[in-house]
Amino acid sequence: MAPATKKSPLKGSKIGRKPGSKSPLRKRAYAPAGRTARQLPTAPEPNRLLKVWRRVLERRLRTRLRGSVAVEVHDNTHTMLTFQRRRGQWRLRLHHMFLAAPDEVIGALAEYVRDADPEASALLDRYIERNKAYIRRVTPAQLRKRLRLDPAGRHHDLSRIFERLNERYFENRINAAITYGPAPKVKGPRKSIKMGSYSADSRVIRIHPALDQPLVPRYFVEWIVFHEMLHHIYKIRRGESGRRCVHPPEFMEHERRFHDYRRAQAWEDENLDLLLRARPAA
Ligand SMILES: [Zn+2]
Repeated sequence: MAPATKKSPLKGSKIGRKPGSKSPLRKRAYAPAGRTARQLPTAPEPNRLLKVWRRVLERRLRTRLRGSVAVEVHDNTHTMLTFQRRRGQWRLRLHHMFLAAPDEVIGALAEYVRDADPEASALLDRYIERNKAYIRRVTPAQLRKRLRLDPAGRHHDLSRIFERLNERYFENRINAAITYGPAPKVKGPRKSIKMGSYSADSRVIRIHPALDQPLVPRYFVEWIVFHEMLHHIYKIRRGESGRRCVHPPEFMEHERRFHDYRRAQAWEDENLDLLLRARPAA
């Protein structure tokens, strides 16, 4: 829900004024003659305001992280916070609800980023929960419209794989889309490869284009797709330690029901090199 539809404290506090009396707001504009005409301060444009708040947040985080901090503010609907450390700088991407967060929350942000502190993480969750009115509501269909889905491939047709798995394992109940991801530009050999991902925002499964090779067996691609389909069912939750649990035990259990589970795992162990060296055409 947009915050504007909530009862705004500003809207609620009308300035009491008897009918006929001059508005206290207008009074200001009509300064007595003879005084220096001064332009009334205009409200800064939203973008400028955002920039100012962003800098303030950077400063607040910098003192706590004792280092260089760059903040980017977004309006995402699911992922409220991501971060990385690059060339000695902390880079955070945050939802705008954090712009004016209280000190306790900023402290938790720093601890979470620096030490993956589970208590800090739980505090952040509570803050996000309290402020969810500021999270824009976007339907997965709206998000998907902006994406170009490209599931056909040259060797492995992801739509077909998805449909067959959906029928065989999920009674056709997985309501998600699937596509090959863009071919990421990498220099030199890869150190790791993210073979699949699932976005809860758009309900889109992305498969790495390196898997679209004749040397990659069908059952292996199926396994990766199956795994991502499970992410549609098992939402990320918190384990007992307070840490985020992306693959909870019931997920792992369910994954073992895939008909070629062991074979696919064995293939990965033996052929990871092939995937790491793959250079899919863009
Ligand atoms: Zn996973």
